[in-house]
Amino acid sequence: MDYPKKVKIREVCTRDGFQMEREFIDTDKKIEIIDLLSECGFADIQYTAFVHPRAVPNLKDAEVVSQRIKRVPGVTYSALVANEKGFERAVAAGVKTVEFVLSATDSHNINNVNATTKESLQRVEECLKKDSDCLIMPGAAVAFGCPFEGVVPFERVKWIFQHYVDWGLTEVSIADTTGMANPIQVYDTIARLLDLFPDLELALHVHNTRGMALANIFAGIQAGAKVIDSAAGGLGGCPYAPGATGNIATEDVIHMLDLMGVETGVNLDKVITAANKVREVVGHSDSYILKAGKAFDLVKEKPKKQT
Ligand code: ZN
Repeated sequence: MDYPKKVKIREVCTRDGFQMEREFIDTDKKIEIIDLLSECGFADIQYTAFVHPRAVPNLKDAEVVSQRIKRVPGVTYSALVANEKGFERAVAAGVKTVEFVLSATDSHNINNVNATTKESLQRVEECLKKDSDCLIMPGAAVAFGCPFEGVVPFERVKWIFQHYVDWGLTEVSIADTTGMANPIQVYDTIARLLDLFPDLELALHVHNTRGMALANIFAGIQAGAKVIDSAAGGLGGCPYAPGATGNIATEDVIHMLDLMGVETGVNLDKVITAANKVREVVGHSDSYILKAGKAFDLVKEKPKKQT
């Protein structure tokens, strides 16, 4: 089967995962986990968010965490922001790459960041005008389906990405924030976007709310997504479906890609160690590999790599 040979992984556990945790996670523990993740070989670790502490109390220590993590050369340490205030805080904390959160539908964006999609686009534009050496990576959350508005028309997604392209941005992300996408839809959406905007380095962010994340990742890479988001231990959740599964577990993604012969640069055993630490700290996880082990763990002689 003709399939891309390489993909980058962005680890989002300590941002997307920790933001959903009710109990405050000790700052030292966060730093310990981020430092473990730094050893795994990720292209990018989205380690925190600079958002209002009332909105996301668990990430109120973003500045302290930024100061104290051990930065491994070659790894991008990115953070999430939602407005100019957050962007300024991130820049002051020395962050060189931020993801700017923005939803494809007004209803979700208003619910999430109290602004329409258009107002959020204006916020991105204002931040781009600021004199900083911080790379802004905006995206489109709920781009495949919105818990308030249902299926999102492709034209709406295209309209958002047209802004990014017009601003000269190439590193952008597209998200199935609440696990509503299916693999054919992911393939078609990404393929159409890349047909229109071939220079985009598209990151795909999927949640495993309904068990479709690995299939969506498979389809997304085939359509040309260059970066995959995932969270060690499968942390995270969905505020609109209490108790639902969160981000796809990094160890499940790396395990699948390793078996498929897709290079990620990520060491699966080190991810499993980090994911076990995450589980120990927060008291739960949602991961096939932490439960079942690797596919060939029980076989003495490992089979040759499938090509
Ligand atoms: Zn997410």
